Amino acid sequence: MAPTHVLRCCQRGLAWIPVIFIALVVCWSYYAYVVELCIFTIPSIGEQVVYMIFFHLSFIMFVWSYWKTIFTMPANPSKEFCLPKAEKERYEKEERPESQQEILWRAATSLPLYTRTGAGAIRYCDRCQVIKPDRCHHCSACDMCVLKMDHHCPWVNNCVGFSNYKFFILFLAYSLVYCLFIAATVLQYFIKFWTNELPDTHTHAKFHVLFLFFVAAMFCISILSLFSYHLWLVGKNRSTIEAFRAPVFRTGSDKNGFSLGFRKNIAQVFGDQKKYWLLPVFTRYKYINIFKYSRPSSDTSSLCSFFSSHKHKPPVKKAGVLSG
Ligand SMILES: [Zn+2]
Ligand SMILES: [Zn+2]
Repeated sequence: MAPTHVLRCCQRGLAWIPVIFIALVVCWSYYAYVVELCIFTIPSIGEQVVYMIFFHLSFIMFVWSYWKTIFTMPANPSKEFCLPKAEKERYEKEERPESQQEILWRAATSLPLYTRTGAGAIRYCDRCQVIKPDRCHHCSACDMCVLKMDHHCPWVNNCVGFSNYKFFILFLAYSLVYCLFIAATVLQYFIKFWTNELPDTHTHAKFHVLFLFFVAAMFCISILSLFSYHLWLVGKNRSTIEAFRAPVFRTGSDKNGFSLGFRKNIAQVFGDQKKYWLLPVFTRYKYINIFKYSRPSSDTSSLCSFFSSHKHKPPVKKAGVLSG
């Protein structure tokens, strides 16, 4: 095996460390809450049952949305955005950037492209050899172009973008609910242990309950800030990348260029049907690629053509359905 392959395999393996860390913390929190707190510490059966029901509801939603964020394949540009074979050969032979841009401009005339580079050129990824659709960016960690890329998240070892942004938001929401619920219900036992009000029969339970409160409270604070920021981004219809660098349109840069108004911005991430908003399932929005610079009548984007052929099916991990 070539050294570069070995290095890449090692990198891929190491990239799972943050996910394994989170999984271990979650497994421990499950044990500490269910066994050490509910079974060993709480004396009332009624309180035990109520806590167990709400704990398991938040736990299932949290793990489900986390799983979907990790294992949903990032969506890539469809084949319409690849240069035809002859054009690609010409592009590769051409050394002058102006001539290369000419080739790209010709190929882009039939594509629904509204954004440009800072210099006003067609956005092209040399690595993937594809014309970048609006809001698409190349992720160096995933080594691919990702539609509506938000950021590459090490905690899910995946790119957060068009295919899993809803899952990511729900993951933040349910992890916040999970931590808040734990912190709120553990607090009284935390105080009782601290003030030695509970019998000292289970010293290890005391240790777990104390740690459970600290860990839940710490995660609450960090997740709350990230969750609030992403809710603000959803309301403005901006990705994290676009929040740092305003997208450049044919007429110039505009940080609100993709905004459709608050309600439609929410629907673009969470879908048309409100009954699915809180579930980590793929939901579509019929005007996914419509924004103030585009014309609804020219709704022929890669995303829309993808939806017309795939309806409600979510993009599948490692299948690259949007690229073929
Ligand atoms: Zn790329
Ligand atoms: Zn990535």
